[in-house]
Amino acid sequence: MRSHIFTDDFRIEPQWWDVARPASAGGELPARADLLIVGAGLCGLSAARRALDLGAVPVVLDAGAIGGGASSRSGAMASSAQKLLISGAAQGLPTNVVAELVDQHTMALDHIRRTAAEAGIDAGYQASGRLFLAAVPADLARFEGHARILRERGGMRARVIGRTELSAEIATPHYHGGLLVEDFGGLHPSLFAASLAADVARRGGVLRSHARVVSVRREAAGFRVVSTAGTILARQVLFATNGYTDAALPPVRRRIAAVGSFMIATEDMGRDRVKALMPGLRMYSDTKRSLWFFRPSTDGGRILFGARPGIAPSQPRAAAVKLHGFLGTVFPSLRDVRISHAWTGTIAMTRRHVQHIGQYDGIWFAVGCNGSGVVIMPWLGRLAVERLLGHRTAPTVFERIDFGRMPNLAGTSWYVPFAAGAFALGDWLDRKRAGV
Ligand SMILES: Cc1cc2nc3c(=O)[nH]c(=O)nc-3n(C[C@H](O)[C@H](O)[C@H](O)COP(=O)(O)OP(=O)(O)OC[C@H]3O[C@@H](n4cnc5c(N)ncnc54)[C@H](O)[C@@H]3O)c2cc1C
Repeated sequence: MRSHIFTDDFRIEPQWWDVARPASAGGELPARADLLIVGAGLCGLSAARRALDLGAVPVVLDAGAIGGGASSRSGAMASSAQKLLISGAAQGLPTNVVAELVDQHTMALDHIRRTAAEAGIDAGYQASGRLFLAAVPADLARFEGHARILRERGGMRARVIGRTELSAEIATPHYHGGLLVEDFGGLHPSLFAASLAADVARRGGVLRSHARVVSVRREAAGFRVVSTAGTILARQVLFATNGYTDAALPPVRRRIAAVGSFMIATEDMGRDRVKALMPGLRMYSDTKRSLWFFRPSTDGGRILFGARPGIAPSQPRAAAVKLHGFLGTVFPSLRDVRISHAWTGTIAMTRRHVQHIGQYDGIWFAVGCNGSGVVIMPWLGRLAVERLLGHRTAPTVFERIDFGRMPNLAGTSWYVPFAAGAFALGDWLDRKRAGV
């Protein structure tokens, strides 16, 4: 193991937690609840806030700390519909469905920006813009079409940046141009989750950490929810468990692939060194199937870099060595920089690469971030609560798209390493064909 790349105080936990560490929430469980929400991430917490707006008192249970799932571990890049367009998820869906999805994602971005601006909410939101980077020249050619959809359908300020102009945006020899969307941004994920949780508690919602829901059984007046912290009779139940969905809701577990994503943070290099590499201080990601994404830390002194590092499932420290290599490929001058933090989190991929809301036997769910959920998952939580409380009568597009099953066996997404290998091979072939 190349230990010289790690700082003396290297830690296996998100750098975000230096500022806001996911907290415990204890106490007796109430015997009854209007609404029981399983999962205290951005989706579950946003759902709880909407329930309070609509007059229902939510009880939110999480198997770990509050906000301790993917929500406090992400790159926290806030964008809308880009996954749909750039990763090609929209292909194969009818045009009107894609248009509805783009509209929903645009509303979701407005929702995050409004929420981040509310009194009492601290999201560390930065309207930085986001730059998508072309891994091969052919990707640059596709950006014009994406920019047009984002401009015309989403009302976004989106423009293509050619290879020669790229150096004004980012000091790298690795990419072939970009798509800049000025309206996208980034936030501080664990601060945001903690702030939403504090708001739920302040308004009378109940939060309990380290309370894993083990089973949910339908009864005459609602549902009997058994958790490791006690049993609750709930009128309604919503699972907001995304990539961490377990045997408590088998039909959803069968329909998502749980995929690990990894990140590192560099040591504090000083804002000037970061700014020299990323003059725009934006959010960045590329077009590879095995996507790389990176950004400055919210204080501007570090670079946070993320990827899914390869075929074999990996531990954060081993993955960090690979990610350090990727960072040096993008920014050769950083081959000597040390890593202070490395961490992982789990996301949910779905067959059609879109998010889903629905219900099985009356138990609601809102899942399927497909790697990009900072903006869309809070919106999904909100929509799901509006539906289950009867405030919204018509199903949204997220309920109408067929969920489709994944080939999971005994609760495991065994094929993920093979898919990762196929993605890496596809990326290598693309670069070879392009001669880059
Ligand atoms: C490394 C990484 C980088 C990412 N970068 C970005 C990014 O830059 N931009 C972006 O948009 N998205 C990004 N994402 C994705 C984003 O973080 C997620 O989409 C989002 O946080 C999902 O929120 P959630 O509330 O749906 O799920 P989570 O935050 O994962 O919460 C689900 C919760 O459910 C709980 N749970 C599960 N089962 C049970 C049970 N039986 N009982 C009780 N509790 C249970 C878990 O403990 C967990 O806390 C990234 C994710 C990772 C891991």
